[in-house]
Formats: sequence, C-alpha cells, structure tokens
Amino acid sequence: MNEIYERCSIDSDRYVHDSDKKALKALTAIPGFTPLLRGFMKIWSERQLRIANMASNIKITEKQLPEYYDMLPPICHRLGIRVPELYLELDPSANAYTSGDNEPFIVLTSGLLETVPHEYIPTVLAHECGHIACHHVLYHTMGEMIINGAAQLLGFGSLISLPIQVAFYYWMRCSELSADRAAMVYDGCADKMIDICMRLAGADKDIGLNIDRNLFMAQAVEYKDMIKESAWNKTLEFLTISHSSHPFLAVRAYECNQWAKTKQFLRINSI
Ligand SMILES: [Zn+2]
Repeated sequence: MNEIYERCSIDSDRYVHDSDKKALKALTAIPGFTPLLRGFMKIWSERQLRIANMASNIKITEKQLPEYYDMLPPICHRLGIRVPELYLELDPSANAYTSGDNEPFIVLTSGLLETVPHEYIPTVLAHECGHIACHHVLYHTMGEMIINGAAQLLGFGSLISLPIQVAFYYWMRCSELSADRAAMVYDGCADKMIDICMRLAGADKDIGLNIDRNLFMAQAVEYKDMIKESAWNKTLEFLTISHSSHPFLAVRAYECNQWAKTKQFLRINSI
C-alpha cells in the first residue's frame, strides 16, 4: 500500500497562494465579469468536452496505460478530491491541462511524456489535481476560451473587455502558483517541481544534459533581483508576460523554493 494513504488529506485552503486569492477577487469584481460569466455558461457544455475527449484522445484507465492511471488515486487522496478522468492527447508540445467543472478531467500530451521523465509525472498530475482541489477549473476553461479565440466564435467575445482579459491572464498565472504548491504537498518537497520547471525550460529528458538544480535556482534568484532593480524592468516583465497564462518558469521555481522554507509548508508536510 502506498504510504501516502496513511497521511491525511490536505484542504486547499491551507496552501492556496495569496496572489491567487487576491487576483480572483479583483477579476470577479470587474463590472463586466458577471455578464461574461452568464454569457459563457449559456453556451458552454461540459458534455461536449467529454465527447471530444472520448472521440479523439486515449482514455487512461486501470487497464489502459495503468502505469499512469495508478499514479492518480494516491494524489487524489492527499489532495482530498475524487479521481478525475485522465486522457492522453497527441501533441508534440509538453503540456498538461485540466478542464470541465462538475466532472473535471486531466489531459497529458504525448510531448509531455517525451520531455519529462516518468518519475516526474506524478508531480505533473498532482499540479493538475491541485487545480481541481483549488476550484480553478471552471474559470480556467473560460479563460482558455478567451485566449484561444473560441469566445469570439461562440458569440460572447464582445463581452470581453481589455481589463477583463488582462485580469484573467493575471489570475491564471497566479493560480499556477497554487497548483505548484499542491504538487509540493503531494511530493513533500520542492525538488521535483523545480526539476520540472528546468525540464520545460530546455532540459528535455532525451537530450541527456546534466543540468544543476542549484545553478538553475541561482539563475531564478538573479532574475528576481534584476526585476526588483528598477520600475522599468518591472514594466518590461509585465509587457512580456501580460498575455501569458503561465508565470515564467524561473519565477515558478523561485516561488516553490521559497514556500518550501516556510512554516506553513513544514506544518502541512508533517500532517
Ligand atoms: Zn497548471
């Protein structure tokens, strides 16, 4: 039996990043947000997403690729959620995402399995399960539609103002930091999340490079210091990332490393 089952489930309230909470509050307080949500809920169908998955992706189950499916139950136990459906999608880019609402599901791309070593996949899955545990998934699905232009095609694009768009992107980036923490709650350390950031930054597993985690962390600290140096650097950072759904990898690694040193993390890790 996996020893994680002997440990308690951890409620997401214990690890959600402060910037995630604040950004969500700011996003939902924008006057146009409620009409946008109403417009989205009118046309959106969770069932349609499931149909698309069942039609085009490989459903991972106890019998189909069990080496991946079996990773999920202990993660879901630790994060206190039901086991979601899991799919494999043919896509050369290294990615994983979670969509849906009442029946959320996780998709791993073939590119992810090529880029990230097998022993890190539970960390990726714990990050995705973290989005479910933190109740990110419905707004993430909505945000993705805004990003990929589907909102325009589906007829509620006119409800998307620039402030809403920027606030959505900002909240999505902040929500990634909470999901990274969920992965750390499962792993009991920051090392694997940091290594995944390195992998996604360029250390593909097949290249066989000998990348040093400490040097990558030093690079992350140097980056943070450089941004703090001037308001102009801060502005340039914002311009570079304002339309991105994920924080910079160096920032994610830095945040994980910092949180691993806090009493909050050590307390959670002892439960
Ligand atoms: Zn994520």
